[in-house]
Amino acid sequence: MNKISALARPEVRNLRPYRAAPYHAGLLRLNANETPWRPAGDNSAGGLNRYPEARPLRLTESLARHYGVESNQLLVTRGSSEAIDLLVRCFCRPGEDRIVICPPTFGMYEVYAQLQGADVHQVPLDKEQGYTLDLNAIEAAASPQTKLLFICSPNNPTGNLIPADQIDAACRAMDGTGIVVIDAAYIEFAACDPTRELLERHDNVVILRTLSKAFGLAGVRCGALIASPAIVDMADCILPPYAYPTPSADAALAALATPDDMHERVATLRSERQRVVTALENLPGIERIWPSAANFVLILASEPGRLVAAAKAGGVLIRDFSWDPYTPGCVRITIGDGAQNNQLLEALNQG
Ligand code: PMP
Repeated sequence: MNKISALARPEVRNLRPYRAAPYHAGLLRLNANETPWRPAGDNSAGGLNRYPEARPLRLTESLARHYGVESNQLLVTRGSSEAIDLLVRCFCRPGEDRIVICPPTFGMYEVYAQLQGADVHQVPLDKEQGYTLDLNAIEAAASPQTKLLFICSPNNPTGNLIPADQIDAACRAMDGTGIVVIDAAYIEFAACDPTRELLERHDNVVILRTLSKAFGLAGVRCGALIASPAIVDMADCILPPYAYPTPSADAALAALATPDDMHERVATLRSERQRVVTALENLPGIERIWPSAANFVLILASEPGRLVAAAKAGGVLIRDFSWDPYTPGCVRITIGDGAQNNQLLEALNQG
């Protein structure tokens, strides 16, 4: 048994996956209980009356090319949210295993662990050091029951990159006992991307990517789990066949064919981020703005409720994080286009 199989739940290791109906080009498909006619307005290549491929092969290849990895290192998922769910279900035995999260961070790691009956151990980010990892506490948390460590970089909601040397050290601390999941949903907005190097250096690392942010395809639900083939195969085992919808695959393929559009928009959002930060610095009632490598900024407000209300009065929703004990007084603002940011800044000026 390889190292990764040994970490997986025995039920998953022993699973006999569903055998999807095989298709062959040129042969009539009367083996999958489909209907012969296309629905009205269906212009898709294969027909929406047909199930998609068991796994979207062209999309897998295109994403792998885009991220600079081999196809057998990548699993297409319905948003990166689904990849989080797959990993937790693959590796965490209910009532026995646990995940480690580093709050304040993205809330879905905890939700999926709770659904699976896995324990959630919190190793808070070090706020004084700019929300970096507490490596001593991570080393102390590594154990045969600690199957997954989630590191979000750039982190949601704080916006900062986690230093690559810290992630390296965390991978070493977990080596042999667990997997480090690096959620890189916002990495395109950062100045550097250490994910490929981490993948080359460690076989217990998973990178999560998504087309929901920089590519602007949140409605398409396209994510990717990128890791060693052993981890990808394990997660693949529990993903149902035909999971990826044909229209989503087509839309994702079209966007991946023109990545320059994405790069242009990312550049615009980065410069808008700088403009918004500079404007916010001059607003009364804003006490601190954390440096952001994402498409949002976290700010500390003297009266967060008032700030949120002022934005809303001007027709803009921003996200109140002051309820979270790890981000008291904080509000998260997503960077929009120039006109949207002007609307926000005007509303806050009026408030
Ligand atoms: N990771 C992080 C850090 C996120 O903020 C989000 C969405 N807000 C996701 C993952 C999930 O994104 P999706 O499922 O759209 O890929």
